Amino acid sequence: MSAGRLVIIGAGQAGLALAARLRALNDTRPITMLGAEDVAPYQRPPLSKKYLSGELPFDRLLLRGPEWFVENAIDLRLSAFVEEIDRDACQVTLQDGTSLDYDALVLATGATPRTLPAEIGGDLAGVYVMRAKRDADRMAAEMKEGRRLLVIGGGYIGLEAAAVARTFGLDVTLIEMTDRILKRVACADTAAILRDIHKGHGVTILENTGLKRLIGKDGRVTAAELSDGTVIDVDAVIVGIGVTANDELAGACGLDVGNGILVDEFTRTSDPRILAVGDCTSLPWQGERVRLESVQNAIDQAEAAAVVLSGQEIPYQAKPWFWSDQYDVKLQIAGFNLGFDETVVRPGARPGSVSVWYFRQNRFVAVDAINDAKAYAAGKRLLDQGRQPNRAVLADPDADLKLLLA
Ligand code: FAD
Repeated sequence: MSAGRLVIIGAGQAGLALAARLRALNDTRPITMLGAEDVAPYQRPPLSKKYLSGELPFDRLLLRGPEWFVENAIDLRLSAFVEEIDRDACQVTLQDGTSLDYDALVLATGATPRTLPAEIGGDLAGVYVMRAKRDADRMAAEMKEGRRLLVIGGGYIGLEAAAVARTFGLDVTLIEMTDRILKRVACADTAAILRDIHKGHGVTILENTGLKRLIGKDGRVTAAELSDGTVIDVDAVIVGIGVTANDELAGACGLDVGNGILVDEFTRTSDPRILAVGDCTSLPWQGERVRLESVQNAIDQAEAAAVVLSGQEIPYQAKPWFWSDQYDVKLQIAGFNLGFDETVVRPGARPGSVSVWYFRQNRFVAVDAINDAKAYAAGKRLLDQGRQPNRAVLADPDADLKLLLA
């Protein structure tokens, strides 16, 4: 890989991590980072947590201050949406018509939330998705006591937004089309624990319930007709029905895509001069192809790409972990539960703490730790070391978790 100009498309968690790691490796090549948003790279997780609740101001979300970009000679360009990649000319073209040559190119374009079609009211005012600062800012205006909020989708982002809304005293209904919340990401045990927590905080959770349409008046949402025909009055709607990888730009220039930009273990796309990192990628993982939408993957994969760019052929091996904060509940997840066929629920030492251990063909693959930092730490350590937990210790709630590591 030449040490000429590196262009990074996407100024988010992964793009920033890649630039920072390259500089930490004493790589002095010119770096230009092009970001579609009008703000410097920031952490997204607090958007649906402490930023939405007003506990953290935006400047605390910024990953680096403006001086860092100057000191590290990173040419950060904001409101710079890349429209086209010309792989023959090694050139990218921005929406404003500017073109930039690259010697190496990294795609770190993230993902876009799925929206509801306009035919069922998806374009009404008062209907929100949650991905960017601007989304959280618009949604924050709805966080007023007594307002009626409908959350569509029982994934982590919907549940986190529901929790914040309850703390502001909104009347919250959450609908989930499948038979339970967290269907895509967690087992029924974890879902049941979180369902109970939300019900205890007064959220109405309706599973097996989809949306027929949103109803509006004067262009603003006023009600929702659910799949069973019920109509409920609403003042605002949060749509949390997943994201799609931003892979159009890659697909349009002929790179291999398929539910994300296909990369190999060295983060290379089907064009070895172009790498891709973060939420936009579909990566190899234990013989399968997966998408990992998490801060951990964005950072680790980007840092692995920086190492590859610096000339070392070291493959990236994802070690997934994730977290979610809802009310005073901290859920920490180590590992990846893909394809699990067994779970073990283990009550923690303190009231309200519990962990759920996932197995696939008898092999330990992940743990969900709910207010149980010890279980998280033990599970993560076992996964890092490729070891199996002692099943007898796991099954005995009185046994010290340290024995798992013995
Ligand atoms: P992003 O951070 O999305 O950055 C991509 C950037 O590229 C964006 O700014 C986008 O505008 C820009 N871009 C896209 N296309 C172009 C283009 N053509 N030209 C120029 N720029 C472009 N993860 C966790 O691990 N734990 C959590 O608790 C958690 N909570 C979350 C809560 C919310 C509300 C959200 C939205 C995400 C959360 N995540 C969480 C996920 C995590 O934030 C993402 O996995 C991470 O941000 C991915 O980083 P990325 O750099 O790949 O993408």
